Amino acid sequence: MKMYDVVIIGGGPAGSIAAIQLRNSGYSVKVIEKLKFPRFVIGESLLPRCNELLEEVGMLNIVEDAGFQLKGGVTFENEENNRKVIHFTENLGQKHNSSFQVRREIFDKLLFDNAEKLGASMSMETEVIAFDENKNIVTVVNSKGEEEKYQAKKVIDASGYGRVLPRLLNLETHSSLSSRRAIFCRVQNDSRDTDGTDGYITVYVVGDNDAWIWNIPLSSTETSVGIVCSEEYFQSFDGDETGFWNHVVENNSHAKVRYANATKINDVGMIGGYSSDVTTMFGANFVLVGNATEFLDPIFSSGVTLALESGVKAANLIIEEFKGKEVDWKCEYEDYMMIGINVFREYVNAWYDGRLQTILFSDKLTADKIERKVVSVLSGYVWDESQMFVHSPKEALERIYHLLK
Ligand SMILES: Cc1cc2nc3c(=O)[nH]c(=O)nc-3n(C[C@H](O)[C@H](O)[C@H](O)COP(=O)(O)OP(=O)(O)OC[C@H]3O[C@@H](n4cnc5c(N)ncnc54)[C@H](O)[C@@H]3O)c2cc1C
Repeated sequence: MKMYDVVIIGGGPAGSIAAIQLRNSGYSVKVIEKLKFPRFVIGESLLPRCNELLEEVGMLNIVEDAGFQLKGGVTFENEENNRKVIHFTENLGQKHNSSFQVRREIFDKLLFDNAEKLGASMSMETEVIAFDENKNIVTVVNSKGEEEKYQAKKVIDASGYGRVLPRLLNLETHSSLSSRRAIFCRVQNDSRDTDGTDGYITVYVVGDNDAWIWNIPLSSTETSVGIVCSEEYFQSFDGDETGFWNHVVENNSHAKVRYANATKINDVGMIGGYSSDVTTMFGANFVLVGNATEFLDPIFSSGVTLALESGVKAANLIIEEFKGKEVDWKCEYEDYMMIGINVFREYVNAWYDGRLQTILFSDKLTADKIERKVVSVLSGYVWDESQMFVHSPKEALERIYHLLK
């Protein structure tokens, strides 16, 4: 049986960035990935906080050189022609004020390959099927169908929607968020705004907040277009996902103009029931990172940011532990991660009940300190406890809503 300092389940952004950071400190790492990369996964719009994390592990230059579409902010538009543009430059002074729109098949492979370049042992087409928590042994089935075992001082579960350890150790619990669906595909030749926001993610509110559409430009000609709605809203439409996607895009006042001459470049895909939660993020010898912990909702493009944040944080704490420091995983990891997750949770709730749209579309929200605080959150800076939206997100949103409505 092979032994490693750390075995990582899953080679998405959370797993690969943890592997990179552990290799930066010279620890032996095995990454076990079920699929063959490059593989498609949804989640293409990053936040500026990602750049800071990529910089911390020495990956920012490599990502910058990969030629991804630059992302300078977010535009929100509803069907009453209210429009709010969030420029990441108008943050609270944080260094990184832009990010990238990425084809995840390319972005994830870039991180995966760089973990390998740095000396991590990477296996693809190998699935983790069991975990012995007492002996810290991971059992896998490799690409030839053979069973292998790996022992590690620490196991990181970065298996995303696979949720390997939550399932095997019975750590899964229901998300507090309602179940929603996303129906998406990529198109080419859409017509974009020409006011400098062409690289921004644009969110169109559908009807009276019945659904919303993400518009993520992946290059000057290709765009990812996804519709997010409740299960009930989707079920109320009598048709399949392609019919639903066509119907919503053809009937939304903004989308129908933008995509009038666009053509689909792949089939319409669908994912549902993705919000999830766990009873704990760690155990004596394992830690959960990325989507294997709690996944909220796609509205603020926070998933990859939280995946990178948790991957780097877990790796840094493991390194400290290996060096002999006693780590309080509850306080230093889980509680820390929950600060950021709870900020996004409040924003997600306020988006779906309409309060955040009232705030964003208010004439009174201008580039002053309140707006800068909102921009800072929407940039992924959700651990800056000196600002009200981070230390008391629920109260802050409620106060601003009553002030601006
Ligand atoms: C509709 C939708 C839209 C989204 N849009 C955005 C967005 O615009 N921006 C954003 O930042 N986030 C977005 N997200 C979230 C984003 O997709 C995830 O948060 C992100 O991919 C999490 O990264 P990860 O590394 O934790 O998991 P993943 O990227 O899912 O990687 C996990 C890896 O583990 C592997 N794996 C699973 N099971 C096993 C096993 N048994 N053995 C070995 N390997 C295994 C998988 O094959 C996979 O490669 C969106 C999510 C949804 C549902």
